[in-house]
Amino acid sequence: MRLGLDVGGTKTDAVAMAPNGTIVARARLATGWGADAVVRTILDAVAALRADPALAAADIRSVGIGIPGRIEPGSGRVEHAVNLGVETLDLAAAVAPVLGVAVRVENDVKAAALGAASLRGAAQSMGYLNLGTGIAAAIVTDGALWRGARGGAGEIGHLSIDPAGPVCRCGQRGCIEALAGGGAVSARWGKPGALPIRDVFDAADAGDPVAVRLRTDLARGVAAAIRVLVLTADVDTVVLGGGITTLGTRLQGEVAAHLDASARESAFLRSLQLVARVEILPVGAPAAALGAALIGAEAAGEREVVSRG
Ligand SMILES: [Zn+2]
Repeated sequence: MRLGLDVGGTKTDAVAMAPNGTIVARARLATGWGADAVVRTILDAVAALRADPALAAADIRSVGIGIPGRIEPGSGRVEHAVNLGVETLDLAAAVAPVLGVAVRVENDVKAAALGAASLRGAAQSMGYLNLGTGIAAAIVTDGALWRGARGGAGEIGHLSIDPAGPVCRCGQRGCIEALAGGGAVSARWGKPGALPIRDVFDAADAGDPVAVRLRTDLARGVAAAIRVLVLTADVDTVVLGGGITTLGTRLQGEVAAHLDASARESAFLRSLQLVARVEILPVGAPAAALGAALIGAEAAGEREVVSRG
């Protein structure tokens, strides 16, 4: 049995994965704030899974953890997980001795990409584009994550596509994240509300010119990210995930309109059939936790394999 945890800013999603890749138990709990509380949340989540009848007498071989922030490849150390109140944390070293099994830590978007590929059950290459507070992507080819030389493959949120665009938190102008990231869009909208991106879409539907511009920029940024993923790695499919995708077909329609507009101007882009290659991850799918379980299996010296879920 392999356990996988997705430690998010508000909640932690944990799954137990059987050797055939199916999920046999799932637990969700609130994530604590700060390094000590994050460690406690992880230990509590593992205890919750172990208490599940489906895991009675099961042999737990590994624990994989997906978490926001920068992860030194192979180190188990998390840095700059600002949404969790963690500046630096040697996470594997903190939890592995208590759990008594191999622990592997990976960036949450990379874990979600691997899990999404497993849930789709398809052997083709896949780009995963996470649309949350920030924008990041990851690529799965031949059932394995493409991490890059320093683990930074897929950080396309800070690709500038508009030199005259809004200033990004990274210091550049017109980054994909500055146009399409939930945090940047909320800041530009500047009105209170629990669901600011939904508010922007609602106001745009009602004809508010500021909201229309923000929605257009958001779709423009997502469309650019999709083009980058297909043109760089020729991934068969781009799967959209993250909080903004709860807008579902409203988001997909705006993005498709941008992709269609560029296809009308370019026979080359038309030939890529981008609209048909975009999917939205089903809301609530445990992609990141499942991907973390697959990555945890690597810790025991077994290469992660995308299996039919
Ligand atoms: Zn940037």
